[in-house]
Amino acid sequence: MKKSLFAYLYKQKEKFYVIQTNTRRIFEIDEKTYYILNECKELAELDRDTFNCFVEAGIVVPKESDEVSLMEKGHMANDNDLEWHSLHIIPTEACNFGCEYCFVLKDKQTTEGERVISDEILYKGIDFFLDNNPSDQMILTFYGGEPLLAPEVIYKSVDYIEGVRKRKISKKVITNASRVTPQIAEYLAVHEFDVNVSLDGNKDGHDQFRLYKDGRSTYDDVIRGIKILQEAGNSIKILMTVGDFNAKNLTEHVKSLLELKPTTIALNLPKALQTTDNQIERKMNYEQLLAAYIECMDLCYEKHIPEGHMADIIYGFLRSETQYRPCHGCGKQIALSPDGLIGPCQAYLGTKKYFMPLKLFKDKEQLRKTEEFEKWKQITMYKCEKCRYCYLLPVCPGDCPYDWENRTGSLLNVPDTYCASRKAMFDYMIGRLVNGKEILFRTKNA
Ligand code: SF4
Ligand code: SF4
Repeated sequence: MKKSLFAYLYKQKEKFYVIQTNTRRIFEIDEKTYYILNECKELAELDRDTFNCFVEAGIVVPKESDEVSLMEKGHMANDNDLEWHSLHIIPTEACNFGCEYCFVLKDKQTTEGERVISDEILYKGIDFFLDNNPSDQMILTFYGGEPLLAPEVIYKSVDYIEGVRKRKISKKVITNASRVTPQIAEYLAVHEFDVNVSLDGNKDGHDQFRLYKDGRSTYDDVIRGIKILQEAGNSIKILMTVGDFNAKNLTEHVKSLLELKPTTIALNLPKALQTTDNQIERKMNYEQLLAAYIECMDLCYEKHIPEGHMADIIYGFLRSETQYRPCHGCGKQIALSPDGLIGPCQAYLGTKKYFMPLKLFKDKEQLRKTEEFEKWKQITMYKCEKCRYCYLLPVCPGDCPYDWENRTGSLLNVPDTYCASRKAMFDYMIGRLVNGKEILFRTKNA
């Protein structure tokens, strides 16, 4: 017998624990047992009851067992190729902001493409996505540029999908919130949109990068937009990019976000760009950043407002399924550009890497056979060597192969900094659990 790949040892003060991340079992153990498991000592040294209990919980497994291959086989056998889960529509590549770190627009090679998507391309793209797609868990995302510069595209898309095509779909918009009007806000609320607003902390932090093209502050306009959205009944998720410019005062920035009473915040590490340097993480000390992040989690729990990445880990631990694709881009998504191109991931909009003209394809079957989509379909956590041998694999929510490719040169090689943050989040969650603290962010009565 051997220790399972998914048996993770955790120590807090003088207490010792083993967690099986696949069966989601946690045991408090004594120091000797911790030592035996940690040093991969002879498991026969474990007392009989402990040994039997560990076998039952999957902490100790037969020597010849290949746990990862088994999981992989099960997942791949159930993977339905016909199902596409995510449609990203880019109504326009134009944006009224000039954020220097924008991973969509900074890599743009030309000034073309600022047009609004035509009805013809829009409906063709939607049909292309919906036809022969049996998925009942579809999500429609409007992205940019700034999607609210062309709100009519949103209205037409929803009318067409839900009214004409009679398909059920979750709806999401990612916006800078500067162009929100009461009418737009009401529409989003009535249609139950997941509304995501980018805001980089307090005014000082936010105005470092998220400025109008002429350099003016956008902060007050964004806050006004958030208020209008909330007054109309929308729940707001705030997306904050974390970089050199705001990492030092992270807790201050997070406090200011929480004061706005969003339903969720997400502290996003910057994505590396394809062709240019975003210049916002040169001096970032990841250890300090993670320590500050963990401090922020205490603040989020106090206010009962979840942080998205932490919530992903918790959700990953509480549900019994493993998320084996890092994101929908890996074979389950179509991004539609205003100039009629489709690709697996909207983040490549700037260079159009992996994008192809929609008009070349009769159906998704043809698209699936292209080298580009085939390559993305092959991306699973199992194919990444680091993930394949990681104790966190069953719980890890994956992330962003676009960023992985830009940092490591491979769509299948996760950067170490990313893993360090996931592991710190997991430790924090386990720390709360073993101390009898709530791990969900809900209020007592929820
Ligand atoms: S992304 Fe990193 S932390 Fe997550 S499973 Fe892979 S190696 Fe582990
Ligand atoms: S690769 Fe990154 S940016 Fe692209 S769809 Fe996946 S998570 Fe989103």
